[in-house]
Parts: sequence; structure tokens; C-alpha cells
Amino acid sequence: MNVHLASSSTLEKVPAALRSWLATPRPMLINGKWVQARSGKVFEVQDPATEMHLATVAEGDAADIDDAVRAARNALENGPWGRMSPSARGRLVHRIGDLILEHLDELAQLESLDNGKPFSVARVADVPLSADMFHYMSGWSTKLEGKHIPISGLAAPGQYLSFTRLEPVGVVGQIIPWNFPLLMAAWKLAPALATGCTVVLKVAEETPLSALRLGELLMEAGLPDGVVNIVPGFGETAGAALAAHPGVDKIAFTGSTEVGRLIVQAASRDLRKVSLELGGKSPNIILDDADIDAAIAGATAGIFFNHGQCCNAGSRLYVQEKIFDKVVSGIAANAGNIKLGVGMDPATEMGPLVSQVQYGRVTGYLKAGQEEGARALTGGTRHGERGFFVKPTVLVDTKPDMKVVREEIFGPVLVATPFKDADDGLIAAANDSIYGLAAGVWTRDIAKANQIANRLKAGTVWVNCYHVFDSALPFGGYKQSGWGREMGQAVLSNYLEAKAITSRIA
Ligand code: NAP
Ligand code: MG
Repeated sequence: MNVHLASSSTLEKVPAALRSWLATPRPMLINGKWVQARSGKVFEVQDPATEMHLATVAEGDAADIDDAVRAARNALENGPWGRMSPSARGRLVHRIGDLILEHLDELAQLESLDNGKPFSVARVADVPLSADMFHYMSGWSTKLEGKHIPISGLAAPGQYLSFTRLEPVGVVGQIIPWNFPLLMAAWKLAPALATGCTVVLKVAEETPLSALRLGELLMEAGLPDGVVNIVPGFGETAGAALAAHPGVDKIAFTGSTEVGRLIVQAASRDLRKVSLELGGKSPNIILDDADIDAAIAGATAGIFFNHGQCCNAGSRLYVQEKIFDKVVSGIAANAGNIKLGVGMDPATEMGPLVSQVQYGRVTGYLKAGQEEGARALTGGTRHGERGFFVKPTVLVDTKPDMKVVREEIFGPVLVATPFKDADDGLIAAANDSIYGLAAGVWTRDIAKANQIANRLKAGTVWVNCYHVFDSALPFGGYKQSGWGREMGQAVLSNYLEAKAITSRIA
């Protein structure tokens, strides 16, 4: 392997201990042990800002997934985990959140180097939100209550006692993407652990590092061996093996709608339970009575946060005619002022896209859009000579059937369309998508805002704000944006089975 170290400009900014962690080939976590792949294979992790080598990671495939699933089954059925009291389990989950906060800077540095996002953003968003997910979920461990249910049917009153018991669904296979590597691991692991499941986690090939460091913290917290197993590797091998493994009771997936479909196919043979958090092409609607400055700032962040690599990005902007020019020129001006650079540079506001592949996808859309007649008010091209940087872009003169309007770009590209009245036509345009993940509405008229919010086919609607996430709020999609919900009380049902127990008592 041809190894170049990531540029001194990035690695110099992290402590020596982290540099040496990165310089050591990273093994995978199976049954509480850090092991190499059975095949002995490794893969290279790249710094997307410099295109240079960042780390070497064990490449898991079907054989390692099989080991991990067995370990998870054994931990579920024979280990101390299944006998742990709900209170003790909750304290352990809480401790994981504490450890994440104790390693705030280190985890934010890893996230920045691996994914490309600014360190400053990872430090205030990704890492604290990940910790909060464990803290929030830890409280549910002691509150997984069934119900006493009075029955009628053929039974005489008082002859039977019926109640439900909520039990962990079992061994869970979890597959996560690269856009929020640590946070996606937290969204998946925290509810699975709070409910008493055991896990095999397949992390994204582009960004395995923060989850591997989290694995070390899980062991430090005292999680019993085999409760969480972390296997880095490729989707087509490790991911596919996990989705099809007969020893897995449930698959939880976040990623593209395309791969979501493959997961469903793989799980369908044994009718394994599946939850999916998939793509989006979310409408953000600005009415002419909105606070225009707030709407411009909100729509800018709505699309450009995390370089547009958010499943819920406000990527389709609808602006009422009268204020269209003012709003789009305001967003374009903001976009033009965003400082692109290496994530570890404190001045950086936007980093590179995560990989060469994503860079190719996004620039491909920019080219296709402009060939179909869309006009870039700002951006529209790559930035710089090195790294996967794309300029924040605002496209106007679009038509509803253009690829850039219909498909998820997953990059810093906004398509803006004017509308005349906030009527059925606007609702139809906003809902004209195979996706239904999120939406935004900007207006000072709260009644109108709620009328529109009620009619949008989306799992989340933000009014006069965007990207407001909380561990307590359910998140997920209508239509092809997914099955089930992440976070909040709602996610618990992804990881629980309800058992009805009836005793004859008369
Ligand atoms: P992806 O292919 O859906 O990857 C997500 C996860 O699924 C990764 O861990 C991936 O492994 C794994 N995977 C891939 N093929 C698989 C298979 N056949 N069986 C099981 N697991 C498999 O997403 P991507 O290719 O990285 O990005 C493509 C597009 O997906 C983006 O442009 C965006 O539109 C969408 N996306 C959505 C989200 C979201 O949060 N909803 C997140 C990321 C991407 P590898 O890492 O090895 O490929
Ligand atoms: Mg990387």
C-alpha cells in the first residue's frame, strides 16, 4: 500500500496521542476483543480535505459478521447483560454519554479528520448530540412498561389476568452512513442498549474511526463482552452479510433509499424486522409575510449545514413571488461568503464532501442541471485544486421534472422555485416527491403555518426554524424516506416485542 500521511496542516492540529492512535492499524470489536479481520484484510481511510491517507482499518466481511452475530447472540442469551436490572442497564447507558462528553475534543477531531466537517461544528453538534442520545435513552431502561389489559371475549369477567411485557427484540444488525458517523452510531446504539438488545454495528467504509473509538469507550463504561460488536467493512460484503444473516432478529439501516431496498430484499427471506431511515428532498417554503432575514439565514443553514450531506436538508426552496429575488440573492450572498477549508482549521465554515465518489455524484448533478437549463446564481463548480470541495450552489430557472429538482443530491446544492399563492398548487409542488422526510415553513402567520404543516407529507416540519433536532423528538419519513422512527419514545418500538401473557385466575 502506498501510504502518505495526511498533510501536516491537518494532523499537526491534533494531540500526539490521537496521532499515534491513527498511526496504529485499527482492529474491529468482536465479543469484547479487538481483533483483525479473519481474512487479514485492511482498508485505507482517507482525509477528504487532502486526499491523503489517514488510517488503516480492519476490513470485515461475511466471516467476521458471522463471529460478531454469534457473540451478540451469546451475550443476549447467556451473558450478564440479559440478567442486568433495568436500573443498572440505564446507568451503564448513561455512563457512555458521560464518557463521550469527557472525550469531546478528541471525538470532534476524529470526526473532522475522517468526515471533513469543521472541528468547531463537530464539537458543538455531532459529539454533544451523541452524548445526549445516550443520556436521554438511559432513562427509558426503567420505563419499558407493559399494560394490564382487561379482556372480554368469551371469558367471564375476573377469570383471567392479562398483561403485556415488553422484551428486547434480540440481536440487532445496524448499518450506518458517513454523514454523521458518531451521531448515527449513537442514534442506533443508545435505544438498542436501553431496551436490552445486543448489536452488530456495520460502520460506513468512508468514516469508521469515531465509532471504533466509541467502541473503546463502551468497553471502558463496562458494557459486557459481545453486547456491542463493531465491524468496519464494505456494504457489498459486510453490510450485505449482516442484512441477510439468519442469526439477526432485526435490521436497522440509515442510508440511501437504493440500499434500503436491498436491505429489505435481504431481510425478506426470513421476514426479519426492518427499520429504515433513508433519503430526502425536503421542501423549505417561504411566504411573503415571513421575517425575511430570519428566513434567508434559515434557508442557508437548511441546505448548507454539513455541506448539504443531510438526509433532511432543505434542498428544494419555494419562495413566494414577491420576495423571490430578494430571498435567493440573500441566500446566494451568504453562500458566496461561506469559508471552505480543512475541517481542523478554526476559520473553516464548510469542509469537503466526504469522498471522491460523492464529489463525482454532486458535480455530476451540477453539470446535468446546468445542461438542462438551470442557472447557478452562485457556486456550480469545484473549489480549489485538492480535496473534494464543492462550492455552495444556488440553482434557479429550474423545472419540476429536472433531475436536480427530483433526486437527492446530498451536497451543497439548493434548487429555488417561485410560487404565486400559498394554495393547493404550492402544497402539491411541495409534496411532489418520492421522499417525505422533512419540510420547513416560514411565515409570521402561525395559523397558516400550521395549516400548511398539517398538509405536508413529511415526518418532521419546522416552522420558522430548520435542523432543530432533539433526542426526545421522533425523526423519520413518509413515503420512500423510510420505515419507523429514530429517537424519542417512538424509536423504542423498533427494538421491542410486546408479549401478551394471560393467566387463568379463577
Ligand atoms: P449507502 O450506500 O446507502 O450507504 C449506507 C450504509 O449502507 C454504509 O454503511 C454502506 O456501506 C452500507 N451498504 C452499502 N451497500 C450495502 C448493501 N448492499 N447491503 C448492506 N449495506 C450496504 O450510501 P452512500 O453510497 O454512502 O451514499 C449514497 C447516497 O445515499 C447519498 O448520495 C445520499 O443520497 C444517500 N445517503 C443518505 C443518508 C441518510 O442519512 N439518509 C446518509 C448517507 C447517504 P459502505 O460504506 O461500505 O458503502
Ligand atoms: Mg474518511
